[in-house]
Amino acid sequence: MKKPIIFALDDDPAVLRAVVRDLRDAYRKEYRILATESANEALESLKDLKNKGENVALFISDQRMPEMLGVDFLEGAKQIFPEAKRILLTAYSDTDAAIKAINDVQLDYYLMKPWDPPEERLYPVLNDQLDEWQSTFRPEFDGIKIVGYQWSPRSHTIKDFLSGNLIPYQWLDVETSEKGLELLTMNNIENKDLPAVFFNDGSKLVNPDLPDVAANVGMIAVAQQKMYDVAIVGAGPAGLAAAVYGGSEGLNTLLIEKRAPGGQAGTSSRIENYLGFPKGLSGAELSRRAITQATRFGIEFLSPVEVSGIRLQDNYKILELSDGREINAKSIIITTGVNYRKLEARGLDDFTGAGIYYGAANTEAHACKGQDVYIVGGGNSAGQAAMYLANFAKSVTIVVRKPDLTSSMSHYLIDQINNTENINVLGCAEIIQAHGNGRLEQLTLRNNVAGGEQTVRAAALLIFIGAKPYTDWLELSIIKDGKGFIETGNGLAKYEDYKKVWKLDREPFLLETCSPGIFAAGDVRAGAMNRVASAVGEGAMAIKFVHEYLAQN
Ligand SMILES: Cc1cc2nc3c(=O)[nH]c(=O)nc-3n(C[C@H](O)[C@H](O)[C@H](O)COP(=O)(O)OP(=O)(O)OC[C@H]3O[C@@H](n4cnc5c(N)ncnc54)[C@H](O)[C@@H]3O)c2cc1C
Repeated sequence: MKKPIIFALDDDPAVLRAVVRDLRDAYRKEYRILATESANEALESLKDLKNKGENVALFISDQRMPEMLGVDFLEGAKQIFPEAKRILLTAYSDTDAAIKAINDVQLDYYLMKPWDPPEERLYPVLNDQLDEWQSTFRPEFDGIKIVGYQWSPRSHTIKDFLSGNLIPYQWLDVETSEKGLELLTMNNIENKDLPAVFFNDGSKLVNPDLPDVAANVGMIAVAQQKMYDVAIVGAGPAGLAAAVYGGSEGLNTLLIEKRAPGGQAGTSSRIENYLGFPKGLSGAELSRRAITQATRFGIEFLSPVEVSGIRLQDNYKILELSDGREINAKSIIITTGVNYRKLEARGLDDFTGAGIYYGAANTEAHACKGQDVYIVGGGNSAGQAAMYLANFAKSVTIVVRKPDLTSSMSHYLIDQINNTENINVLGCAEIIQAHGNGRLEQLTLRNNVAGGEQTVRAAALLIFIGAKPYTDWLELSIIKDGKGFIETGNGLAKYEDYKKVWKLDREPFLLETCSPGIFAAGDVRAGAMNRVASAVGEGAMAIKFVHEYLAQN
């Protein structure tokens, strides 16, 4: 934590030097001493300090100054740092004004100039004031602050992006946080322009797009090299594993991710069946370890950057990015995984991001505290989300079309759910409408066997109803199955088009698509196992085939 500040103001340079000298002698170990001769400059720099999350413990200001009186400065400073102690330095002739100010502006003390010897006439007073300040001081969060409306999709996107990238932030709901309001007032930001993001260097962004947020936190969105041995599209478990092996085996490796590393696994609150972690681990922890490991091997990681197409030029592959830029590579591994299917029901689109979330919404879990929450889906991901949310929510209801979870969920999760009091399973049911005002408030459910409908209170709805591959962007004549999953290896032979597009003497490698040197791994591949471990295994295998391909070209 940064040291709290003692701030001194005096227009007379000689007096200011004396104050600073005495303050430093006694307090420099525990406090930072800042000083200035101009009251207006001081007020400006206080705003900056506030934006940076600094804390001022005490102000000491002279009363008679040309720009403004000391009491007026201290009153202005109070608006910015209301908890700080305020001390006025006065000449004997100003004593009356100082005494009046104690009542008018709740001044904490006044000191008479000169204060020699400081051991008798300065430090005892300051020590008392600083002790009092310390006893009530709660350190400010020293990082990124987001101010916005709890149920705003734009706020959710930024929170989700930062948490997915493991960047700590403080969320300040403008409707409940005084500190949030304070930041907006101080920076003249209107509520209609929210969300606003305040960074610890004092800079701020109002209603920003993700690339701007990413640039401010130092993430790289521009490729550093002209040509890569391998470009990996998608940083889920498959892409991360490919990056670790690519980097560790000396390939010039680029990993591109449109949102945050970890993919679907990154949204899992607890992965219990990944080899080597008997107590399970969260998806966020797995992603953190993997991205650290990959970057340690010298790979380049671009995020948030979306790949929107691939073009071929001789043997080279050109990746087209959604912002119009291009990247060249000798080989590509597509690890774009899957995206959730949309649930079709009236009103759902109106509240997506404002109470309705696809996949896990760990970032919003705390907003569900004490509330009734619904989950649609009967697979393991729905079960994990239910177990996680049950820690916060008043009740969690899993809505499934089938009578129960037995045919779709692992037994260990069904047992955990049965043993958790605040989770209910509503079988033979579906959601037919969402209602609310700016955010989800109610859901209408239908019982498909009995036929009745009921409208219930719901603070959040999490949807896990199967997935479709992220391959719409891939227009190159790469063979996909009927559902859009990429075909690879000997799975290609059954397609009529295969012989038209594959012109090499050799057969495609196990994970190679019908375009030589372009590979697919993980959930995006036809016939994938939809497991973290299998995605990791395929990512590692793909690098082996990249080596073989590069050796031949
Ligand atoms: C909530 C949940 C819990 C789960 N729990 C378990 C579990 O306990 N055990 C288990 O074995 N499996 C579990 N799974 C399944 C497992 O997470 C997946 O099988 C695994 O993540 C697949 O990895 P992947 O790398 O193939 O794809 P994904 O994880 O889907 O990652 C794909 C990545 O590609 C990115 N991307 C997509 N398109 C583009 C583009 N055009 N440009 C750039 N980037 C792009 C995406 O943003 C994403 O980050 C769970 C899944 C979910 C959703």
